Amino acid sequence: MSAQKTIHVGGEWREAASGATREILDPVDATAFAVVAEGGVADTDAAVAAARAAFDDGPWPHTPVAERAALLRRVADLLERDREKIGALECRDAGKTLEEGRVDVDCVRDAFRYFADLVMNESGGRVVDAGSDEIHSVVVHEPVGVCGLITPWNYPLLQASWKIAPALAAGNTFVIKPSEITPLTTVALVALLVEAGLPAGVANIVTGAGAAVGARIADHPDVDLVSFTGGLASGTKVMRAAADTVKKVALELGGKNPNVVFADACATDEGFDTAVDQALNAAFIHSGQVCSAGSRLIIEESVRDRFVTELARRAARIRIGRGTDDGVECGPLVSEQQLVRTEEFVASALKEGAVLRAGGERPEGPGYFYRPTVLDHCDRSMRVVREEIFGPVLTVETFRTEDEAVALANDTEYGLAGAVWTADAGRGRRVAGRLRHGTVWINDFHPYLPQAEWGGFGKSGIGRELGPTGLAEYREAKHIYQNLAPRPVRWFAG
Ligand code: NAD
Repeated sequence: MSAQKTIHVGGEWREAASGATREILDPVDATAFAVVAEGGVADTDAAVAAARAAFDDGPWPHTPVAERAALLRRVADLLERDREKIGALECRDAGKTLEEGRVDVDCVRDAFRYFADLVMNESGGRVVDAGSDEIHSVVVHEPVGVCGLITPWNYPLLQASWKIAPALAAGNTFVIKPSEITPLTTVALVALLVEAGLPAGVANIVTGAGAAVGARIADHPDVDLVSFTGGLASGTKVMRAAADTVKKVALELGGKNPNVVFADACATDEGFDTAVDQALNAAFIHSGQVCSAGSRLIIEESVRDRFVTELARRAARIRIGRGTDDGVECGPLVSEQQLVRTEEFVASALKEGAVLRAGGERPEGPGYFYRPTVLDHCDRSMRVVREEIFGPVLTVETFRTEDEAVALANDTEYGLAGAVWTADAGRGRRVAGRLRHGTVWINDFHPYLPQAEWGGFGKSGIGRELGPTGLAEYREAKHIYQNLAPRPVRWFAG
């Protein structure tokens, strides 16, 4: 294994200036399978300088929108070409199943195509009526400048695409710092951007740690915008670090997402089966390492026993293992640290009175696996209900009335996503309207659309990705007011 040139600055692939490297572990067996450059402040400064020069002097911000859109479409085509290779890399790096890795690549491709279409439709300015034929007033959109993009390990490529595609569509240059745990597919994506013909210096990547590379991006005076996806603790550090230079700050943080199930959703066998099945999907896909994971089941008391019994039975049957093996439904946690954290949460919940209905242990063997876990009889006094775990742990709380259900679902400092299950369409819309979360599903869980904004209320973040707002985040609005018949105003008499 040799040190890789995974830092891309000004069109060149490099090792870290310090020569430092980092091993990338396969979470399935904790063995190293790749080595990347461990960049630091010097590498970050070089990358920002390259992005600055490419923005200030380069052609990209002034490249016609149709050409920028065409480049995004070429990237999407290259992703389609490399789907198997990149999907398999994501699967290994992040501990996903192979199918999840492939689906992630498809979603990344779709994000590039969506922003290519959007920027074509939203490239014109907006004429503003100034109340006079002698005034021409128009609001135009321009790129923000140099964007610092910081991404997490759970959906490494997908989160990167939600930033890179709109940033490029709008004409910005960028420096991206992927998670130090899962950098490989982002490195591959930058290589595809180069292959697609992006001018040197527009796309830069520095692999390395958050405290060094990420922190430097956040406080660098030549970075105009920092867009961060990750945990609450790091997000608040980024916001603080960005304050002195008054950067634009976009934060996509964690969630503690309620899945509210009314008894009427379970009145038929089919309804019951669907609600149970989707509650499993909500909580355990990618071993619960999903910002929008439905980790809080909030269920009407009258159906709780039947529902939780079936849920626990099915949770115990989820097949965990290496994501490339046949029949495997769930991979491991991404790291030892995440595994230990999950164990600690479960132990604290049991001490506080929760009842274990499934899981609650590591299986035999190597790797960072943890069994899908269902904890019944939970309440809001417990840490496990209040804090984001980011592991395969589902807590169960109960309610008797609609008001109580809404109050429980909103009783969180986060506000990323939530769902309501009911056979009563009116109730579904009513409850959805009262939930203080950025995405609300009625009788579904997890789907998102690139056309629809994604982001959180409360401590789940600031700003939105995807949708028209996801492009607007990467643009400055400029008002150009043209006087076609200038005359003195004589405000001052002298
Ligand atoms: P994390 O906060 O530990 O790390 C995220 C990124 O920030 C990494 O690249 C890391 O190196 C970097 N970082 C760490 N400290 C930093 C600092 N001081 N300054 C700048 N950068 C720093 O998060 P994670 O563990 O990688 O990811 C899991 C978290 O991400 C969860 O909380 C999850 O909910 C959240 N997430 C949110 C969304 C969303 O759309 N809202 C999507 C995916 C993940």
